[in-house]
Amino acid sequence: MDAIARLMTRAVSAGVIEPRERPQHFARGLHELLQKRGMAVYFSSVGASHVDLAQAVRETPPDTAVIFIQYAPAWFGVLPLIVAVLRWRLAGRWVVLCRTRAPFDRPKQRLAYEVLRRLVGVELVGTESLEEALGSWPPERLPPAHRLAAGWRAERGPAPLAEILDLLRCPRCRAALAMEGPELVCSEGHRHPVVDGIPVLLPERVDLELDRHAAEHPAGDAYDAASHPGWHELGFHKRDLVARLLRRAPVPRASIDVGCGDWGLHHGIAGSIGRDLAVAGDISLDLVRHARGASTAPGRIHYLVFSAEALPFREGVFDLTYCSEVLEHLSRPEEALAEMRRTSDAGRAILTIPNEAVTGKLEKDHVQTFGYEAFQALVRRYLAVRRTLGVYLFVEQDIDALPRTLWGRLRMALYLRAGRFFPARSVNVIVDGRFRS
Ligand SMILES: [Zn+2]
Repeated sequence: MDAIARLMTRAVSAGVIEPRERPQHFARGLHELLQKRGMAVYFSSVGASHVDLAQAVRETPPDTAVIFIQYAPAWFGVLPLIVAVLRWRLAGRWVVLCRTRAPFDRPKQRLAYEVLRRLVGVELVGTESLEEALGSWPPERLPPAHRLAAGWRAERGPAPLAEILDLLRCPRCRAALAMEGPELVCSEGHRHPVVDGIPVLLPERVDLELDRHAAEHPAGDAYDAASHPGWHELGFHKRDLVARLLRRAPVPRASIDVGCGDWGLHHGIAGSIGRDLAVAGDISLDLVRHARGASTAPGRIHYLVFSAEALPFREGVFDLTYCSEVLEHLSRPEEALAEMRRTSDAGRAILTIPNEAVTGKLEKDHVQTFGYEAFQALVRRYLAVRRTLGVYLFVEQDIDALPRTLWGRLRMALYLRAGRFFPARSVNVIVDGRFRS
């Protein structure tokens, strides 16, 4: 059995870290190989400084069980790398260090590398050739089984449409669908295109104005790290909070991410989590294409274009429904909740909204302006709510100004954590519950 097959018996999610500007093809080759074998893989090109590496640790998706680091002696400062490895290890990750046979320039480097080597789970030498490096993997050195990933089916190819055809329903008439050439057709004759492997299952004939959608929803706009450092931080905090909620329960059998958006911040945890089935979709083909491109696990997730108000699935499919920052965009959010309940197997639901009663309107295309009470009243008609958490206690308005100073960062850390206990006064509200059957 080869190294990857052995690894996948213990963990099926991995991160691959490559030194930026010093790519040696190893990390990219490894990334491709792991993905091809069905692992969920997070890939990152990382700068050499403490700040860059700290950011890489921060951005690691919460379900990542194993981190591969392509070590380049003249690039990564060993000390920042040691700190990063320690932080990954404290977060329960297992680290694989990959390096070339090239000698070290300075004795100090050699010594520091020796420290690093002792911190990692396994060291692979011979990175000029991928086969050589993987061949050097000692069979007994394997990570402990990861809690989130352990329940996933180990081997998975790309997600073919045929796998979910039985579950799909026409969004116009709810009849079953069949493949007919490049289209999905129902018994009433409603035709739905499949574009780029992505079924477009919308209730009306919606004009796919891709350019307009792309202009209206640029990738990663709201949580962009450079221009919105505060919102970026808030997004990570929310992601990690949801990941913690998910870890408390067994790995779900079938999950759906309703309104996956265009990139991977939340996606990595909710979209890719279903053990047997993971589905993610949004209203625009362009958003879904972006999401698939940014995904850690494109082969594990079925991507579709759908409307939250007419989900193209039969009754009782999912046991985890995740819907983050979507309901405020809908003119009929109660229809979306009814659809989520219909397609759920009386399963768990994690719903989040921006609390615009506290912040004021955040985006012009928010049709609903939810406050905490209104949102609770709405969701309690469909869900037995188990817990409600907040993110970021809204004390200071200029969230993006905070990470720019040390004192601001400390305050932000406090507000982020305090929000949890004061959801009614927080920027985001997370509801965790179960659909009433
Ligand atoms: Zn139909």
